[in-house]
Amino acid sequence: MTTPWGLPDFDDHEAIHFVTNDKCGLRAIIAVHSTHLGPAAGGCRFWHYAKDEEALVDALRLSRGMSYKNAMAGLPLGGGKSVILANEEKTKTPDQLHAFGKAVEELGGRYITAEDVGISVSDMIEVARSTRFVAGLPNSPGDVGGDPGPHTALGVFLGIKAAVKWALGKDSLKGLHIALQGAGSVATGVALHACAEGARLSIADVDEAKAKKLAKRAGGQVVSPDDILALDADVLSPCALGAVLNETTIPQLKVPVIAGAANNQLADAATGRAVFERGMLYLPDYVINGGGIINVAGEIRALDRGEAFDPAWVEAKLSRLMETLGEVLDRSKAEHRPTSEVANEIAKARISLAAEQKKAAA
Ligand code: NAD
Repeated sequence: MTTPWGLPDFDDHEAIHFVTNDKCGLRAIIAVHSTHLGPAAGGCRFWHYAKDEEALVDALRLSRGMSYKNAMAGLPLGGGKSVILANEEKTKTPDQLHAFGKAVEELGGRYITAEDVGISVSDMIEVARSTRFVAGLPNSPGDVGGDPGPHTALGVFLGIKAAVKWALGKDSLKGLHIALQGAGSVATGVALHACAEGARLSIADVDEAKAKKLAKRAGGQVVSPDDILALDADVLSPCALGAVLNETTIPQLKVPVIAGAANNQLADAATGRAVFERGMLYLPDYVINGGGIINVAGEIRALDRGEAFDPAWVEAKLSRLMETLGEVLDRSKAEHRPTSEVANEIAKARISLAAEQKKAAA
């Protein structure tokens, strides 16, 4: 029998909750990795997994990633993530979303959910009917923060610009070729920012209609999902699913820079070193995709304080995150170590410090 403890991705997670509701057919996993910095915040993924174990591994990896992401973004939040196990057709019902919300509510605020792959803002509105512990709800002026996708996209775009400056010495994306894997919420924002700056885009999505729609809107060309990784481009921006950088794909890559939104792009720790040794600059996903959770944190902060949402707070956090990214790049160069290793070290140190401070204060 596989147990969570026996899985390589188990990393002293504080709690893993398995949610089952036969009446509405809900099966979900809520993984709380760490609450040292604050309540575990991270989105809910709705995905069809070929095997149940894949869902568990996803929840373990994604929740740890959220701990690191929130720590790197300097947020008073820990790391958690949930996955809803979808059927093959990926159909969901309001009852399932309500049952999921109820399970989140029962955790009493230890976990705060939001959108992720497969979960829209309207889905979160349904979830919010059963729990208070939801972020990423639609905003009205001066109210709460809204869909994190565009904010994630802005952070990824700024990250790409920083990487291009650092690795290619260019101040602008003008004329640069960006290979975009995925044409969903975040990829759309990245594409629009990049094309506004004059970048040339190649876009691939397993849902070809989405790729075509985005290519038309942003002025790029559509490429097959099988070809996108091997394109001779300036930047590869993985904005689809995780583990895209692995021992099969790395030898195919022909880009100097990898910078995208997808969580857990590296199949494992060794992959970060392999990318580094091939001379490519990889921007740790959980650093550059922190824009969305920063906005979510702004929303949580406003609700907690009973104040209006403060965009200036969000902007300041995003700009500080870009400074942290610069620190990762500089240390990687100075210490001749992969960016992934340097970023992990900084994130773990921030979490350990919070744990020690909490212990000392208890
Ligand atoms: P989304 O569901 O809107 O888009 C993902 C897209 O990727 C879909 O269109 C899907 O068809 C496509 N896709 C899946 N597998 C593919 C493949 N092999 N090749 C090409 N396309 C493929 O999701 P999103 O919100 O845009 O998020 C994209 C990634 O960024 C995810 O990994 C997510 O976890 C991560 N992320 C999102 C946010 C956010 O604010 N939405 C924040 C941080 C990280």
